[in-house]
Amino acid sequence: MNFDKIVKQVKKLYGVDVTVKEDERSVFLAGRCDNWADVVAIGKMFVTEGKHVVNDIVLNGYVEQPERLPQLRDNALDGTQWDVVVIGGGISGCAVARELMRYDLKVLLVEKHSDVARGASGANDGMVHAGIDLKHQCLKLKYGVAGNAIYGDVCKELGVEFRRSGQYVIFDSRLIRFFAKGTVKRASKHGIPGVRILNKKEIAQAEPSVKDFAVGALYAPSTGYVSPYQLTIAYAENAVQNGAVVSLDTAVSQMDVADGKVARIYTNRGSFTARCVVNCAGVFADKIAAMAQDRYFSIHPRRGTDLILDLNAAGVPVQTISMGPSLKSVNKFGKGSTKGGGVIRTVDGNYLLGPDAVEIPDREDTSTSMESMNNVFGKHSGVCPTLKRSDVIAYFSGVRAPTYEEDFIIERSSKVANLVHVAGIQSPGITAAPAFSKDVAATVVEYLRSAGAEVRPNDNFDPIRPRPVKASVLSDEERDRLIKSDPDYGTIICRCEQISLGEIKRALRNPLGVMTVDGVKRRVRAGMGRCQGGFCMPLITKIIAEESGRDITQVTKDDEGSNIAVGKIKEVQA
Ligand SMILES: Cc1cc2nc3c(=O)[nH]c(=O)nc-3n(C[C@H](O)[C@H](O)[C@H](O)COP(=O)(O)OP(=O)(O)OC[C@H]3O[C@@H](n4cnc5c(N)ncnc54)[C@H](O)[C@@H]3O)c2cc1C
Repeated sequence: MNFDKIVKQVKKLYGVDVTVKEDERSVFLAGRCDNWADVVAIGKMFVTEGKHVVNDIVLNGYVEQPERLPQLRDNALDGTQWDVVVIGGGISGCAVARELMRYDLKVLLVEKHSDVARGASGANDGMVHAGIDLKHQCLKLKYGVAGNAIYGDVCKELGVEFRRSGQYVIFDSRLIRFFAKGTVKRASKHGIPGVRILNKKEIAQAEPSVKDFAVGALYAPSTGYVSPYQLTIAYAENAVQNGAVVSLDTAVSQMDVADGKVARIYTNRGSFTARCVVNCAGVFADKIAAMAQDRYFSIHPRRGTDLILDLNAAGVPVQTISMGPSLKSVNKFGKGSTKGGGVIRTVDGNYLLGPDAVEIPDREDTSTSMESMNNVFGKHSGVCPTLKRSDVIAYFSGVRAPTYEEDFIIERSSKVANLVHVAGIQSPGITAAPAFSKDVAATVVEYLRSAGAEVRPNDNFDPIRPRPVKASVLSDEERDRLIKSDPDYGTIICRCEQISLGEIKRALRNPLGVMTVDGVKRRVRAGMGRCQGGFCMPLITKIIAEESGRDITQVTKDDEGSNIAVGKIKEVQA
């Protein structure tokens, strides 16, 4: 392709001189620019069929933030040898590790944080998308639709709550409703079941909370929702249950490449070898590719902010709803780089509002801004006017990891024989992971066999991970029996969410060995209610100290350094 015309356009639109180089896989851009949004927009202008964009345009004055890395230094993994090393403990890495355990393989998953699900997999909407927004054949569509179809079965095996609730996409104009007929046809062609258009009366009946400007809605019955971090944890636990090793606080910092293969992997816990390496590093996937001398795509971080509503919020919709494109607002919100978000149900009963989509240069910038929160609340309360701002109890941001081509990269590297990339896993990554993880495992096994390894099925593979007890949803009789079997289930520690001591102790005895306050929160929701841990955090800190045999000052909220108690201020003698 001749890029001269685009170079001239860039100069005219942004005043930036871009230099372009190409090889068989990628288009490489260089230059300098004053605005990050322009850097991303320029990168997108060079997207071309069959090639990836590597965008090295520098943002003037921006100093790249140092990556957050564990301080821990030991040699726990030094000199070890693995069949497969998976880099990254998000849903991609944990699902791939679990699927690999269907084979008789020595698998190591390394995650730089002190728990899994600390990247995008722990900070998203948990919507199991139907896939109605995806127009063209792409990996997001292929795996999104396939993942959605098997979600119920996977969650049943892994003991994770999943509900298929359906989703309404609201229209405020007859013309848009007319165009929605095309979406219905396309959905049927793509194998998305049951998508149909509801008229004004039907949507008003189904969703009384929706504003009366709705002239209709698109209904996608296969949309569902899940707790994304609980599913990620369940995948990791089931992998460990079947023999995988998960090494937390472990960051890959360097790789040796020899004879076209990754020969050695270096971390803060020693260096080791692997016959095959799977790159599931989220927003850092392009950095991992570069370490393996296989740089052929760029990730441009895109932050999304969500608001969390109180469990008892009134006036919320019955189902997940979102605003479809409107004649006035098409692409204004998020500039077309998000599905537009919505008012989203969660398995725990409360609702999320969001997310928005903001391009940012810093891959780990999960800050929230008043602007984002106002945008998100304004947009969704516009559709659902009964929502109250006073019902917002918390908010969070997560960072998506899109490539410039806006599709997943799930393939074995064409340059480094023993490297598989699972990159560009932006939304619908939570939806798609159950499906693509199976294909990734098959790709790894195919490579290992082609390289001469004998890979046998794991006859002892157990797909079932027992569902954790949730005392608050049991009947009085069931709870009575539970308390009789273990009195700790009768002591409530988190009053907002009704979480007992028994559940907290069980969460602390998790197969990954995570013993942090937020680790408990992610596993059993203690601290996620209206008071946001105000009452239960000191108690949970004490329980962790007792269970782990550590001094209370050594207990952390999450990663190392986040100690809760730093010393004594007063002592009372009994
Ligand atoms: C706001 C928001 C809303 C979203 N909503 C939805 C939704 O409703 N439905 C949906 O299907 N998808 C949604 N997504 C997308 C979804 O969250 C992601 O596609 C998915 O979580 C990506 O998972 P991952 O495992 O690839 O990446 P991550 O979860 O980011 O995991 C990557 C991991 O790699 C680790 N890592 C990185 N570098 C290293 C290293 N050098 N050494 C060791 N470890 C390393 C990181 O610490 C991280 O834990 C949303 C995303 C966002 C941000």
